Amino acid sequence: MLTRRAFLTATGVMALTPASRVSTARYDLVIKGGRVLDPGRQVDRVADVAIEGGRIRAIQPNIAIADAADVFDARDKIVTPGLIDLHVHVGAPDLTPAALLRDGVTSMVDGGSAGADNIDALVRVAQAAPNRVRIFLNVARTGVTGQGELLNIEAADVDAARRAMKQHRDWIAGVKVRLSENVAGDHDLEAVRRARQVAGPLPVMLHVGQTFSPLPKILALLKPGDIVTHIYSPPPHSLLDAAGHVLPEVRAARMRGVRFDVGNGRNGHITWPIVDAATRDGFWPDTISSDITGPGRTFRVFDLPTVVSKFLMLGMPLDQAIACVTNHAAANVSAFKGLGTLGPGRPADIAVFELREGDFEFVDNVDAKRTGHRKLVTSTVVMNGKKFVSERS
Ligand SMILES: [Zn+2]
Repeated sequence: MLTRRAFLTATGVMALTPASRVSTARYDLVIKGGRVLDPGRQVDRVADVAIEGGRIRAIQPNIAIADAADVFDARDKIVTPGLIDLHVHVGAPDLTPAALLRDGVTSMVDGGSAGADNIDALVRVAQAAPNRVRIFLNVARTGVTGQGELLNIEAADVDAARRAMKQHRDWIAGVKVRLSENVAGDHDLEAVRRARQVAGPLPVMLHVGQTFSPLPKILALLKPGDIVTHIYSPPPHSLLDAAGHVLPEVRAARMRGVRFDVGNGRNGHITWPIVDAATRDGFWPDTISSDITGPGRTFRVFDLPTVVSKFLMLGMPLDQAIACVTNHAAANVSAFKGLGTLGPGRPADIAVFELREGDFEFVDNVDAKRTGHRKLVTSTVVMNGKKFVSERS
């Protein structure tokens, strides 16, 4: 048998392990007997996952219990990389990153809650969070407001936003701009231009749906890596043409590297008929995000696993749906590079789910009900090797 030192040297992870750590068991935690589903590495098989020093050390069948300080029995459960939610709102006290951790969300991006005037408080929330929080800075100085933060376009102050980005470069991962007519009036295109100016090489996330300008005019201003959220918004100016087919400009934007994200939310962002028409044309999302807020916790959104379950109901294969909240999501944010998979040596961010079978009712943004037959329910979450048990199971 290898000594711990020889094992670590053999696996090339010696430098990552504090020398002072002493443990008789080789692993801190072994998640045993689950169906390991890691789309980024094309893994879908029953195996044990061994964790040590906050990192994944091995994924293999039959790791000895004697080698583990702690064992989690994951038989009949699904073990995935920790979920990544690209669009949440954790700036208000009614929804904390810690609450989302217990849903299985180990990494997230706040989508524009704050702008240059109030970014400091949101950065403090991110710094204090037990999970990984990054921020898309709202191009409007105020961040999201109920009145519509871009009705006066001068709120999109490029210099102020650039100063905020510079000051918080470790926390700001991109720029958010909300473009619906009730937010940005008739100057949505100018708002996109300013957001692009601020973002430079970082991504811009665009909130579309019910915009003044048609979607192709907006897409024409984007660069590869930019993210369109609320892609299944109902009209005016949805992603469909008058005949109900996906616009050629939308497909062309995807071909040149623009990403398309769900952003479930509560109002105006997703209806079943739009999803049906788009997916009949083969237009599935690149990423599935919740756009969750405090009120969304109990109304139309609930949590990211519920939003993923909606896409299972809508016909997305399980591995593809999980990819949309793991490796695909990680690819959108440079700070999440290397996350969203379970490879040995990676941070031990892991979610364990039950895939319950039965009749489950899901609603869209106009409360249209549909019944699905599978639902992901979070069982346990591991963040940097530390185990949290879900409150929602
Ligand atoms: Zn949002």
